Amino acid sequence: MEMRTAFRVLLLAAIVLVGTTSRASAQADFAIGGLSVKPGTLASGAFDIPARGAEAATTIPFSVIHGTKPGSVLALIAGVHGMEYTPILALQRLRTAIEPASLAGTVILVHVANMPSFLGRTIYYSPVDGKNLNRVFPGTPDGTVSERIADVLTREVIARATHVVDVHCGDGNESLRPYAYWTTTGPDAVATAGKEMALAAGFDHIVVDRERPTDPGATVYLSNTAILKGKPAITIESGFLASTDEVSIVAIERAAAGVMRWLGMRPSGPDPVAHPIWIERSEVLRSDVTGMFQPAVERGHTVAAGSLIGRITDFHGTPLREVRAPFAGEVLYVVATPPISKGEPLAFIGQAAH
Ligand SMILES: [Zn+2]
Repeated sequence: MEMRTAFRVLLLAAIVLVGTTSRASAQADFAIGGLSVKPGTLASGAFDIPARGAEAATTIPFSVIHGTKPGSVLALIAGVHGMEYTPILALQRLRTAIEPASLAGTVILVHVANMPSFLGRTIYYSPVDGKNLNRVFPGTPDGTVSERIADVLTREVIARATHVVDVHCGDGNESLRPYAYWTTTGPDAVATAGKEMALAAGFDHIVVDRERPTDPGATVYLSNTAILKGKPAITIESGFLASTDEVSIVAIERAAAGVMRWLGMRPSGPDPVAHPIWIERSEVLRSDVTGMFQPAVERGHTVAAGSLIGRITDFHGTPLREVRAPFAGEVLYVVATPPISKGEPLAFIGQAAH
């Protein structure tokens, strides 16, 4: 009796092993958004967001590069903020630069996550519902358009990925120097992998973010949604002021190549950053009034505690505020166009770890 049971367990183990081996040697098709992508091919499609109430229908264009060998599923997402162009342009280049025949695993490229904002040329907020897409995750299928876009990204993209990179730059009003965010929220193993991912992305400034929400029902941010599902994720920033400059685009392509190498999806790629500057202390300076902002610094400037960051006036030009650095550090971004509404960011100051 005991021996028979042992034999059954062994037999079962053998069947499981055979099953695993045969699955691993034959890469299955990758099904997403109504497409079934064959191994070794590239396919493009779109997630449809149907019209709801007074809101028109919209669409989220994506591509899938499905490798010939099994491996990680890396989602690169651009255009969560529609006036951030360098991520969108970098992902178009990656679509043809990543060769499916030599890829292990799968790359999902979301080309323009926030189509209403992209076509409407809006910073931060959707022109349809006035919401910031990167503040409404995980979204809901019966909400406003930004919430429904977040829901589709959560269910169709984040759920299918093993690793996520949310690709941003300075928004249309922000003069930004490149950096990555490493978020420490979530399980230790996820945070540790996220740190390695941030290093692999190659940006020498890494902002350590220890204050993301931990409620899976109110994840707020795209990358945080992935992290709380146990998937390592980072946010990267490269580009500024609605530019389409080559240096910023190439840095994003390089970051993707570095992360793919780290994941073993491609045999070679750029090295991780050797000497990162960890930004342990950082603060977004916000305006407590509505008016006009004139910066006194530029992106990447070093500032002392109390340094003038800029001035706010009313619409006649009368001075209202002087904005000063709360501590010594570097200007990671500064708003460089005049309009300011109460509560909006003016600048992001980061201080390196000592
Ligand atoms: Zn952004």
